[in-house]
Amino acid sequence: MKREFSMDRRAYLKSVGAVGVAGLVSGCQGSETTTEPAEDAETDTGAGATTDAGAGMTTEGAAGTIVPGTAPGFPPFEYRTDEGELVGFDVDLVAEVVGRTDYQLGEWVDMDFGALIGSLNNGEIDLIAAGMTINDKRDQQIDFSDPYWEANQAVIVREDGDFQPSAVGDLSGHRVGAQSGTTGEDQVEGLIEDGTLSGSDYRQYDNYTLAVQDLENGNVDAVVIDVPVAENFAANRAVTIAFTIETGERFGLGLREDDDRVSAINDALAEVRDDGTYDELVAEYFE
Ligand code: GLN
Repeated sequence: MKREFSMDRRAYLKSVGAVGVAGLVSGCQGSETTTEPAEDAETDTGAGATTDAGAGMTTEGAAGTIVPGTAPGFPPFEYRTDEGELVGFDVDLVAEVVGRTDYQLGEWVDMDFGALIGSLNNGEIDLIAAGMTINDKRDQQIDFSDPYWEANQAVIVREDGDFQPSAVGDLSGHRVGAQSGTTGEDQVEGLIEDGTLSGSDYRQYDNYTLAVQDLENGNVDAVVIDVPVAENFAANRAVTIAFTIETGERFGLGLREDDDRVSAINDALAEVRDDGTYDELVAEYFE
C-alpha cells in the first residue's frame, strides 16, 4: 500500500476549525497523511501485552499492564509512517498519560475502527485511543475518560472537482462515503433517513484512508469525516473541505465499564494538561 508522509507539518498550519473544550486546549490543524489502511493482518499483539481472555473482568492485567488499541489511518491522531511506525497525537498522549499512572503501557494493537469496542469488551485490549467520540450509544457499552479533544464533522470533496457543495442538501444525488461505525457515518445515515440521500448513495469504508483514495479517484463524490482529520487530508491530498457540520463532538479514551482505572487515567490526563505536555503534543501534531 502506497503511503505518503508530509515532512513539514508547520508548512500546513491552518487555523480553520479550532475549537476548545473547557479546561483543555484543542486546536484542529494537522498535516501528515498516510494512506495506510488498518489491516488486521498487521495487528500487533506484542509479547509484552497481557491480553489473556479473562482480563476483561479484572481491573488490571497480570503485570498491571494497559494494552492500548487503535485504528491507524486517522491522521494526525493515529497513522503509520512510511517505515510502518505507529505514531500520532493519541499514541503520544496515551504514553504520557499511562506513564503518569502506576500501570505499564502494553504494545499497541491495531484494527479497524469498528472492531475497537468489541475488542475492548472481550479483553483483547484495555484502552481505546482512536479519536473516538463520546456518545450515548457507546457510553452504554464502554466507559470514557474525560474528553481530550473537540471536533465537528467536515464534508470533503475533490480539490479541483466540479462538485463543490456548501450544505448537506447539495449532497443529494451524489455518492457520499464515511468510515464504518463512525459519527461521520451517523451523519450520512441521518441524511438517508431524512431523504436527502438514498441508501444506494452511501459508500461505506473500513478506513478513512480508503475513502479519501476513492474520493481522489472519483469513485465517491464526498466524504464525511472529523474536521481535524479532514484538514490533515486537505493539506496532503487532492481534497478540500467543502463545508462543516457542527456536531460538537468530544473525544475520549475508552475503557471497559467495570474498569476502575478510569480515575487514574483521568488524574493523569489532568496532569498532562496542567504540566504543559498536552500543549506540546498539540504543537507537535497540529501546528
Ligand atoms: N470521531 C469519530 C468517531 O468517533 C471518528 C473516529 C475515527 O474514525 N477514528 O466516530
